[in-house]
Amino acid sequence: MAQYSQYFDMDSCNLQATCKVCKQKEKVKVVKYSQSSKTNLKTHFIVSHKDIDIDAKAAAQGNPTIEKLFYPPPFSKQEELSNATIDFIIDTNQPISLVEKPSFRLVLAVATGSRYSCISRATARKRIIEKGNAWTFEPQTYMQKFGKPSATVDLWTSKKRRSYMVVSLHTNTASGLKTNVLELAHIPSLHTGENIKRKFEEILSMHRMNLEDIFKVVCDNASNMKKVFKVSLWEDEEGEEEASR
Ligand SMILES: [Zn+2]
Repeated sequence: MAQYSQYFDMDSCNLQATCKVCKQKEKVKVVKYSQSSKTNLKTHFIVSHKDIDIDAKAAAQGNPTIEKLFYPPPFSKQEELSNATIDFIIDTNQPISLVEKPSFRLVLAVATGSRYSCISRATARKRIIEKGNAWTFEPQTYMQKFGKPSATVDLWTSKKRRSYMVVSLHTNTASGLKTNVLELAHIPSLHTGENIKRKFEEILSMHRMNLEDIFKVVCDNASNMKKVFKVSLWEDEEGEEEASR
């Protein structure tokens, strides 16, 4: 409020302000405003005092310029809303490009009266990575209670052509079934059945498990995968092509 009083005599009981500049010219101008918006004060200045260079004067005196003076304060929910956006992307499996979609930005703009400035795609990506707390699995405790967990094994290649193996575990919890990423690890480029099997065993052993501790493995239908998970591990389970997919 103090800022406005530089140019207006503020009457906060009646929510009206008397312009000091007009007063100097022996005119009386009373401007109404509300608790949440002082746009009328700004408008009065823009319309009535174009002739005086208030900004230059203010700058010379080290005071905020008119633009700064009437600019709304920074949006207090900026951080909270950015965080909620990140959680929404994670929870609903949205692509990170969502934050740059005009329709999504419109939702935020409407909801906040255009006061929120949406995070960029790069920031969204960075913050999702920061949020990824490693999940720890206690095989002994788990298996005593629920038996063997099942796993999903997936291979993918990044844009930089590095390959990764992702192992997810499917477990029982008191509140139902749950899937967590156990490990994401670099895998040497030759995706032979042999390499896949070695990497999978290596990941399991990092978590104090071996192949026998896994009930079923879900993988895609690539021939190298089939070789590892059907032929090598359960070669005696014939005719279960579909069951283990
Ligand atoms: Zn005035």
